[in-house]
Amino acid sequence: MKVGLISDIHSNLHALEAVLEELDGCEEILCLGDVVGYGAYPNECVKMAKGVSKACVLGNHDAACVGLLSLGWFNPYAASAARWTMDRLDNGSLAYLRNIPRSTHSGIFFMTHGSPREPTTEYLREVSQARASFDLCDDRVILVGHTHVPLVFMERDDGPERIRPKDGEWISYRRRRVIYNPGGVGQPRDGDPRAAYAMIDTDEEKIGQFRVEYDVEAARDAIIDAGLPRMLGDRLTTGR
Ligand code: ZN
Repeated sequence: MKVGLISDIHSNLHALEAVLEELDGCEEILCLGDVVGYGAYPNECVKMAKGVSKACVLGNHDAACVGLLSLGWFNPYAASAARWTMDRLDNGSLAYLRNIPRSTHSGIFFMTHGSPREPTTEYLREVSQARASFDLCDDRVILVGHTHVPLVFMERDDGPERIRPKDGEWISYRRRRVIYNPGGVGQPRDGDPRAAYAMIDTDEEKIGQFRVEYDVEAARDAIIDAGLPRMLGDRLTTGR
């Protein structure tokens, strides 16, 4: 079975549509949170993510936009976008986002936005954090988002190995436990403006990392036209 992995859509409908087209052959799609925040299409993205995802977890922006997390956590741009989003979420979007779990399982996959110990807020970037995550969970595959940068930690006898997966690279979880972050669909932050996503092949027990081009200019213009902070649109063009 093929399972699509998406995370950090951030109301970027153009990026989400491009990624879902690439994941068209997948039997299941798992969403690792931050469906909304930053972009101009919150309701459209919630509707689409809800429609396609077998499971979805709550991101920090999702939480803030439905009143479950203080805006004090956010920089001024993020806080301004969260307020803009709050004013526009319809009842269906609110109900969906308020009810998705902070962590969940789908088959053998443990899913959370940040990390097992801080599901909504921890940025899992360092080997020490990966070690703590492996210690906390028995799961073979831990799926996270939040940093908007594709990153893998593979459990080794001498501690977790940190791997930056390249476009098209597959990582096996057959013999080693892994923590996998597919990067951001709608706000990539690794210097590559293309939308990031991943695909799990459960028969081969491996996860592949991918990028796809989308209409970045249209997504940026929509942010500016909506009156959201211009910087949130401009950064889409650099992927920073
Ligand atoms: Zn995010």
